[in-house]
Amino acid sequence: MFSFSNSARNIIIMVLLLLSFLLVSTNTKAATTESLIFVAVNDELVEFSDAKPFNFEGVTYVPLRSLATTVKAVVLYDPIENSVTVTKDSQSMKILIKENMYVTESLEKLPISIKTVNDRTLLPLRFIAEYLQLEVTFYAEGPIARLLDHNEIFQLTNEQLYLNNKETIEAEKEKWKAAIEAQKLKEVNSAKIAYLTFDDGPNSNTAQILDILQKYEAKATFFMVEPKIWKFEEEVQRMVTENHTIASHSVTHDKNKVYHSPESLLNEMNVTRATLFSVTGIDSRLIRVPYGSKPYLTKDYRDLLASNNFQVWDWNVDSNDWKYSTEKIISTVKYQVANQKQKNRAPVILFHNSSSTVEALPEIIEFLKAEGYVLEAYDQDHHFMVNFWNDERI
Ligand SMILES: [Zn+2]
Repeated sequence: MFSFSNSARNIIIMVLLLLSFLLVSTNTKAATTESLIFVAVNDELVEFSDAKPFNFEGVTYVPLRSLATTVKAVVLYDPIENSVTVTKDSQSMKILIKENMYVTESLEKLPISIKTVNDRTLLPLRFIAEYLQLEVTFYAEGPIARLLDHNEIFQLTNEQLYLNNKETIEAEKEKWKAAIEAQKLKEVNSAKIAYLTFDDGPNSNTAQILDILQKYEAKATFFMVEPKIWKFEEEVQRMVTENHTIASHSVTHDKNKVYHSPESLLNEMNVTRATLFSVTGIDSRLIRVPYGSKPYLTKDYRDLLASNNFQVWDWNVDSNDWKYSTEKIISTVKYQVANQKQKNRAPVILFHNSSSTVEALPEIIEFLKAEGYVLEAYDQDHHFMVNFWNDERI
């Protein structure tokens, strides 16, 4: 039963290498929602140089690079398939990152919880341990998750293991705490940005909206419907010239057509994206789906969008400008922006290109500026998650 010990180690290394590809950047976001955990194999604490293992919702996720380098397994990363194959001796295992699946030696596809945070992918420790036939023990000090390979010699008790590494562990914990503080500060700062977003255009009101934005030196993001892009090409080009962000909002805006199937949604977004590119030379991966992502954007849809590298933005402030009076729009936005401020979240405000929007916009911009917000456009290079499913892939 333990004859696969070396294989198991190799597999661990491979998995770690796989993860390391995805985990290279320092994941500051993890610091605020996840707790640090230490990982040991037999009597040795494993050193993780860049990414650290952490607990998230009861599961310990492990970045594998450091583990891998010690175990000498062969890890092949396939960026096209987005898979990693871990091979040790005659044993091998493939992990399909996007699908959250792994392929067994008998070619069976089974689900596995893969955590992708920003550009990093992590695997559950228990999965790796089980695959490698290693026993997992936990020690509350640290805490330490310890993998025991009964095919090898180990002598220390968990307490001895902790005491031997106490200095390292406490130093790492201090660093982790500092990272959390830094991230909190960053969140507070980023909350001083507000995002004005305009759906369903361009139309005959768009030029006025652009005039107002220009007057206040405010940047915005426009989610546009494909046939209207052709009709109002000049406005779309002006958006780009004036440093607003252009994005796709479908071709038909008809929920029966858009949500007929994941492929129909993808097709509408691809067509709109191509049209935006034709008109402006800008390739925008950002979309907002008609009526927002809930309830229509179920997992099949999100899987397909994610695998096609689309980013999906919903909103956290709804002006209801398609049905409210100007006064009501203004008070609604003020109220909801205050709510987001309490949560330290940057407001992402939903508007449409309606005439009441034009009327309400100056006062809303003045209010936001008085509150200390800078009005910026969505930046594709610094995407952050704003979707009702909290799906970090999109
Ligand atoms: Zn819409």
